Amino acid sequence: MSGITKTRPCPRCERELFLNPEKIAALAAEIKIEPSLAADEDVYKKRIAVCNGCEALREKTLCFFCGCFILFRARPAKGYCPHPNGDKWMPQNQTY
Ligand code: SF4
Repeated sequence: MSGITKTRPCPRCERELFLNPEKIAALAAEIKIEPSLAADEDVYKKRIAVCNGCEALREKTLCFFCGCFILFRARPAKGYCPHPNGDKWMPQNQTY
């Protein structure tokens, strides 16, 4: 599978994965989502900025709490942050 080698552990499933942030970003850019269901670009960028400063971010790509790639999790308009202390995206979610 593209972007995966057996050099680093996945924090969620503990399988040995190598997560290449550039390849994941390229995959995320290819994903099509119905525009009415997608967060607007400003909200998306703000969510990603929060994730990039979050202690739960692993391998620059994954959320420790849900195991999702943040670039995918942040895309839906009704997406939410699963942090156990509360949704860290909430101030950015003006479209809720
Ligand atoms: S806990 Fe929330 S802010 Fe932190 S990486 Fe996961 S989705 Fe992003």
